[in-house]
Parts: sequence; structure tokens; C-alpha cells
Amino acid sequence: MEKDNVCINCYEMLDKIAGKLGLSEPETGLLSRPRRSYTFSFPVIMDDSKVKIFTGYRIQFNNARGPTKGGIRFHPEVDLEEIKTLAFLMTLKCAVINVPFGGAKGGVVVNPKKHSKGEMERISRAYMRELYRFIGPNTDIPAPDVNTNPQVMAWMLDEYERVTGQHAPGVITGKPLELGGSHVRGISTSLGGYFVLKEVLKQFGMKEENTKAVVQGFGNAGMNIAKILHKNKFKVIAVSDSRGGIYDENGLQIEKVIEHKEDKKSVQDFANAKNIANEELLELECDVLVLAALEDQITKENAGKVKAKMILELANRPIMPEADEILASRTVPVIPDILANAGGVVVSYFEWVQNATNYYWTEDYVLKKLEEYMTKAAKELEMACSSYKCIMREGLYISAINKILQAERLRGVLK
Ligand code: GLU
Repeated sequence: MEKDNVCINCYEMLDKIAGKLGLSEPETGLLSRPRRSYTFSFPVIMDDSKVKIFTGYRIQFNNARGPTKGGIRFHPEVDLEEIKTLAFLMTLKCAVINVPFGGAKGGVVVNPKKHSKGEMERISRAYMRELYRFIGPNTDIPAPDVNTNPQVMAWMLDEYERVTGQHAPGVITGKPLELGGSHVRGISTSLGGYFVLKEVLKQFGMKEENTKAVVQGFGNAGMNIAKILHKNKFKVIAVSDSRGGIYDENGLQIEKVIEHKEDKKSVQDFANAKNIANEELLELECDVLVLAALEDQITKENAGKVKAKMILELANRPIMPEADEILASRTVPVIPDILANAGGVVVSYFEWVQNATNYYWTEDYVLKKLEEYMTKAAKELEMACSSYKCIMREGLYISAINKILQAERLRGVLK
């Protein structure tokens, strides 16, 4: 299948619901192959004057509903199939959340922990010099993802503007405020996840106050959701980072945990809390388990041991497909990534609109609009689940695919 540029993961995901939707062969074909795939090899001079060759990717999966949109990740394990899968999920995500974009994703095979700031700047700029011909405010708009941040976006924007010779803030989102970024973008993924959780808890007749939450991952998404949940009176009983976790059945003081993490570079050894391993954290008894680390955290081995009453997928693809089936058979509701973490792309959309109009919104207005988009999508999800009698992930896939295929039909691409 590789020679046909098929995304194998996407094909498998589609295959499962193709029957329910009655997808035709060209429809499955269109949705399981990216429209455009780029692989770049580019040399960068390191601090010791030696040259190192890096590999970068950009996948523009589908643009029926608008310019393609999606982040760029820096990670040593990035590969083409992963980027294709994530670009497919971006396509679905933008449809689910009702922003006028298609889906894309990019990545560079690099471990940022092993490079100086200067090297990271040169890598970011070199990647953009490969990419600039193929992107633009009305074609494809990158953004931050794993291990990339507003500073990386600023370098990439600057490189794009240098080589094209024009100001074009709308070519990339997640920029610092001073360069045309938007208020709230920094915490938008977590805040969006909270707004969705709030709505779903209501649908399940559950309250927020004293609801026990466990958060896996303490990067931007995990740390901010822990903070937001704590502020909204949830009892956050455990959190973890890549080194391990901490547990306090009475609830952790998250602000203090953040200070501790800044100081010690890890959440572990926090006063009055018990150190626990990541595996134990995933199996703790709680109301909501928030997965905010990396992919493939819940597997067929540990899915049967999860004791959470509900799961919020703040990271992309933290539950493996086999594990998803186990959780479904145990009726553990999962709020899927393409809705739970869509707050990032929603505020990216607001940023892009502000750049296009040169008119900048207040923080309160962005907050209000974000809540509106997230709540509306969560309500649409409830409707999709009841009309298709399925779990949330299927409901979201079905409504997203319907929207994308309808756009393709209206364009005359499909019959
Ligand atoms: N990387 C984020 C995501 O996976 C944001 C993408 C964007 O803002 O375009 O949703």
C-alpha cells in the first residue's frame, strides 16, 4: 500500500466505520490518501561547525473545506506514517469543530533536548526554507505541536517573510502576541478540553465540584488543564511527567506543584504526596482521567485495568485502537482527541482571522468565542451519538467524514 501513498492507520480507522456510512471505494480512497506529501532532507550547521542532515515532513491531507491546517512537531521518533495519521486527524478535527480548514501536519526528526537554542533556531529556519513554497495564508497554515512553541513559530514566520519579501502573519499560528498572535492561544488546548469536559459531564449527569481527576503529562497541555481543573474545584489527585507521577488522595495544590516542577524539573518528590509510577497513575480510581502526554499510552495490556469513570484525550492518539475496543466493551466513555484537544486549532483559527483583518480581539472576546465553539461541538456530538447509536469516537468520525465528503461533492470532486 505504501507505493500508493496510503495512510495505513487512516485506512484501518475508516474501514471500521465504512459500513455504517456506506462509503464507496473512491470515498475511502480519497480519505485514506493524503493529497500532498513532502519529505525534505536539509543540512544545518551545528555549533561545532559540523554539518548535520535533518529529515522533515509536511503532509497536506485534505483541503476540501479550506486551506490545510496543522502543527509541526519536533521529535526523534517522527516518521511519515505518523505524520500522515496526524494530518488525517487534523482534517477530521477541523470539521468536527466547525472551522473552515482542511488538515495537515508537519514534523522534523530531531530531539530538541540535544540541541542548543541557536541550533534549534537554525533547524527551524532551514525547515521553513524547504517548506515555504508549499504553504501560505490561503494554502496551508502551520502551528505549534509537540516540542514546538511560540518562539519556534516566530523564527519560522521571520524566515518565511525573509524569503518571500512580504509580511504575512497569517501563514503560521501560535505566534507570540507581539508578532500577531492571539490572546489565550497558549492555554487554548487545555481550556477547550475543559469546556468540552464540562458539557459532557452535564450530559452524563455528573458534577464538577470534588470530581476526582488524574492528569498524565505535565507539559503545556497537562499542566494547564491541571491548573484549570483545580481552579474549577475539581480534586486533582495525581499528575505525572516523563519521570513519574505524584499522588495525594486529598487533592494536590497545583500552583505549588507547578513551582516545584519549575524548580526541580520534575513533579516527583513533591511534599506530602506519594511518588507513583506512570503505569500506576493510569490505573488509579478516579472520575476523570486526562491523557495529556504522548501517543499510545493506553494499550490492550492496561485498558482492562483503567478504573477511571471517564477519559479525556488531550494528547493526540493516546489510546491505541485495540485498547479503545476494550474500553468501549467496559463502557468507559472516552472524549476523543479530535474534539477534546481542538481548542488549539479553534484559537489558531481566531488568530488567522485577526491576521487577515488586521483587527485584534480582546482576551474576554476570545474566551467567549472559544467556549461557544467547544460547547456547540460537544452538543453536536451528543446528537451524532444518539442518532448513530455509537460511542463518541465513532460519532465524531461519522459527522466529520460526512462534512468533508459533502464539501468534496459540492466541489464536483466526488459524485
Ligand atoms: N498542533 C495542534 C493540534 O494538533 C494545533 C494545530 C493548529 O493550531 O493548527 O491540534
